[in-house]
Amino acid sequence: MADCVVYDICVVGAGLWGSAAAYHASMDPETKVCLIGPDEPTTKQEFTERTVFGAHYDEARITRQNVGNMTDAEIARRSHDGFGVLESKTGVSFYNDCSHILFGKAKSPYVISSKKTSEFLGLEHLLLSNDELSRMFPYLTLGDGNECLLQLSNCGMVNPRRLVSAQKLAASSQGCDIVTSIVNQINEKYDQVNRDTILEVVTEDGHMIQSRRVLICTGGFTLSKPLLPPHLLPDLRLAPTQTLRIELSAEDTKTLREMPMISSIVGGNNIEDCYMCPPVTYPDGRTYLKIGHGRRKHFERNDAIAEWYRSKGDPIITEKMNEMLNRYIPGLQPLSTQIDTCVLSGTPSGLPYIDMITPEIGIAVGGNGVGARWSYEVGKIAAKMMTKGQWDYDLPKEYFKVQLARTRKDNDMSAENFKVQNQSKL
Ligand SMILES: Cc1cc2nc3c(=O)[nH]c(=O)nc-3n(C[C@H](O)[C@H](O)[C@H](O)COP(=O)(O)OP(=O)(O)OC[C@H]3O[C@@H](n4cnc5c(N)ncnc54)[C@H](O)[C@@H]3O)c2cc1C
Repeated sequence: MADCVVYDICVVGAGLWGSAAAYHASMDPETKVCLIGPDEPTTKQEFTERTVFGAHYDEARITRQNVGNMTDAEIARRSHDGFGVLESKTGVSFYNDCSHILFGKAKSPYVISSKKTSEFLGLEHLLLSNDELSRMFPYLTLGDGNECLLQLSNCGMVNPRRLVSAQKLAASSQGCDIVTSIVNQINEKYDQVNRDTILEVVTEDGHMIQSRRVLICTGGFTLSKPLLPPHLLPDLRLAPTQTLRIELSAEDTKTLREMPMISSIVGGNNIEDCYMCPPVTYPDGRTYLKIGHGRRKHFERNDAIAEWYRSKGDPIITEKMNEMLNRYIPGLQPLSTQIDTCVLSGTPSGLPYIDMITPEIGIAVGGNGVGARWSYEVGKIAAKMMTKGQWDYDLPKEYFKVQLARTRKDNDMSAENFKVQNQSKL
């Protein structure tokens, strides 16, 4: 990559959505595409010095389609189809089929709406009482008075690290330049000769990349650096979250080998809205069972987000996750435990923001804790929008329209009046 190249599209943020967008945008050989973003930090020093982080530093993300909101379900369905295409194209395997249990109070609205979506999409599913479930999965005790929707088709686990690698590999093989760096700011410059606006993308290590259009895919760090005009910042609510991984013995791994993915829905932004991923082997060679919790609070300061990534999480939440794990799968004998901290980017609608902020700057952010299942298609929608400079997709653009923060104060994330409308839990 030479500093004098002017790209057609520069994608900032090489996470799940940015790498998907770069892959889709670079399918057209006439479009010059560049993807800029840092790799995952791996050393203690990198964690200490790093100013931005991603939500893709893991080995398992749940993907399913039996969700309450039909737009959510449709983007998940299209992405699911795309995952297979990408796997065959790159030879990188990142997806495994796995059944899914959604459980909540009998006749609760979320279980009912998820069942309706399953019926509408023709997904293979069963509605089970707790007793019926215990007969199928003797190690699970999901609680009396609950009912469970067992989804048997079109669901599974995505490995986000490998998905990012596959998308970058595919993008790069199509001619996309990949720059491993962090963007510090974006400046607009008017080119007098060509009567055109050019964006100057300035990186932390002093490079300046020029592009006609820039797509921002920076997840939880979108508001951390001056990437967008200050009066056009999106209403993004950023929430700390953490997962607990327990290392399984060979015996516990054997017991849980057919375990489905599990999500519990209590509703009302409750910590008990937990999810569990069945045994997965991590890069350290050990096999872990993972549990995550429902949402609780939002960050009050932008600089607290990077600090959260460096922390060991909130011990009260860790204890709660341990308690839930013991309640739902009693008797496991963990060999060790691991806490991973991460950030969720919420939008008021619960759907992603995919929109042009200015004629030259587009945005694709707002994973709402379920952005892995949308990622392939979000990348496609955003790439089409950036190529054309306007909406170019068969779903209404209003669904994905950015809601701007009304004042700068809103972006301090005080979040008092934020209504959590996201019904699309894991
Ligand atoms: C604990 C946890 C569990 C989850 N589980 C699920 C699940 O089971 N199913 C599911 O569908 N989703 C899940 N998600 C959500 C999913 O991981 C996210 O929605 C998804 O990663 C969003 O993709 P993204 O590209 O918007 O953001 P990210 O994946 O976070 O990528 C953003 C990228 O931008 C980079 N970046 C930021 N600022 C800059 C900058 N200034 N310059 C350059 N690069 C920058 C970051 O380094 C990062 O690589 C989970 C999230 C978390 C945190």
